[in-house]
Amino acid sequence: MVDHVKLVVQVKLLPTPAQASALEATLRNCNRAATYASHVAFTKKLKDRNGLQKAVYADLKALFGLSAQPAVRAVKKVVDAYATLKANLQAGNLGSPTSKRHRTAVGNPIGFRPEAAQPFDDRCLSWQYDARTVSIWTVAGRMKDVRFACSPDQLKTLVQYRKGESDLVRRGGTWFLIATCDIPEPEPYQPADWIGVDRGIVNLATTSDGTNHQGRRLGRYRRWQARKRAELQAKQTRSATRRLARRARKEKRHATQVNHRISKKIVSVAQRTGRGIAIEELGGIRERVRLRRDQRGTLSSWPFHQLGQHLAYKARKAGVPFLEVDAAHTSQRCPRCGHTERANRPTRDHFRCRRCGLAGPADVVAGVNVRNRARSVWAFVTMPVPAPAE
Ligand SMILES: [Zn+2]
Repeated sequence: MVDHVKLVVQVKLLPTPAQASALEATLRNCNRAATYASHVAFTKKLKDRNGLQKAVYADLKALFGLSAQPAVRAVKKVVDAYATLKANLQAGNLGSPTSKRHRTAVGNPIGFRPEAAQPFDDRCLSWQYDARTVSIWTVAGRMKDVRFACSPDQLKTLVQYRKGESDLVRRGGTWFLIATCDIPEPEPYQPADWIGVDRGIVNLATTSDGTNHQGRRLGRYRRWQARKRAELQAKQTRSATRRLARRARKEKRHATQVNHRISKKIVSVAQRTGRGIAIEELGGIRERVRLRRDQRGTLSSWPFHQLGQHLAYKARKAGVPFLEVDAAHTSQRCPRCGHTERANRPTRDHFRCRRCGLAGPADVVAGVNVRNRARSVWAFVTMPVPAPAE
């Protein structure tokens, strides 16, 4: 059985002014229709799809100009929203039943923003890839030749794998279609060997090959951000709080970009050399990394976890085997003689075996240990199971 991985491709629409106003009217009507259906669902206690559809279908078509599929989608959107709300209430995400938030959520119908995303299926939206246009249902009738822009890579993915519904959204005055693509995942190959990856503070990732993927620029950037943040926090005005939130978002975006870039590089090396990728289980990092006082705040926000996720995801997509191995002593163990002692690592950056004298950069040694652990785990996993004795 072939597994699939879902991927979204976001393309920018380039509507003419007339097309844009039809899109706007469509999105607004769809969401007004959903809000209307939500009121009916709330007052008549109709939270199932069939019951609600029976109650509002004719109205959605007559009052809001929806055709069949958008009307059905509006109903589904409402039913899904109430199901999500119910799950959130049960999980206690909206506080205790006596809290104001909880009571407000229970006591009022759910509303939909005028510009909330609207899904379109193949009956209401068709793609002309060669012409880079779509034809889309609107409240002003079927609209043809709406141009869209995308990269050659995105176009290739759309042509090969687009499947099911796409969401129409407007963000900051720009129209987008967000298409879902269903990409078959290649079967992972038999790895010839492993690349062990050590995640750290200064070098975000170091491989057993000795390649450093620097976090230095990122580290400097984050320290600068922290300083700015402290200044803003000291001010404690509303605008300072807003700027702080903006900064936090920017910082996160930057870290995501760095992780994206590093994981892409490591996966492509693995693929080219027919190897798998191994990383330490995350728990180990917290125990292992010794931090100076000024770094204490860093670890919780440091994107180790995200780097692991990016690696795992990209490896899966490329058919590269991926393993997480036990992290115990990966920084203290000598990969040559096996001697394990804290004193093997006199400083954060250096490793020197107290027994055999093997010395090197601590993160490379850790990467090698991760690789060796992957080798033995893999040998165990793939060892043929002996037939039971007669
Ligand atoms: Zn040794």
